[in-house]
Amino acid sequence: SERTLVLVKPDGVERGLVGEVIGRIERKGLKLVALELRQVDEDLAKQHYAEHDGKPFFGSLLEFITSGQVLAAVVEGPRAISAFRQLAGGTDPVEKAAPGSIRGDFGLEVQYNLVHGSDSPESAEREIKLWFPSL
Ligand code: ATP
Repeated sequence: SERTLVLVKPDGVERGLVGEVIGRIERKGLKLVALELRQVDEDLAKQHYAEHDGKPFFGSLLEFITSGQVLAAVVEGPRAISAFRQLAGGTDPVEKAAPGSIRGDFGLEVQYNLVHGSDSPESAEREIKLWFPSL
């Protein structure tokens, strides 16, 4: 069994899609280990997205992720990292995410793509420590 960090970003929370995302995670058979609604500060945002520091969209990504509440979750199950990335769909909700995925069903723009899921076991470990230091 494996753990992954899932976020419902401010666009997803604002649009009332928290239940939709949690429902899909549960129906897939994945388990919720931790769940918290919170406002993200600049420091956490910068650490979470450190790999994108220097990219042209970094500033607007930080502004976006700190613009409202985020639902953070630790999700567990067999191959949970890949399983959630499949539920989410590709980064670009129109060009990459298939219909039937969260981004494919509800997203239109790359930045406002509703959810985040860790992309590797190393990222998952780092991100879970960052968001849920007590776990
Ligand atoms: P996440 O890390 O949030 O799960 P991802 O792994 O699918 O998304 P990354 O390439 O890691 O995508 O990009 C992180 C986030 O930065 C994206 O989810 C999106 O919100 C934003 N982003 C990525 N590329 C762009 C871009 N070209 N323009 C604006 N925002 C972008």
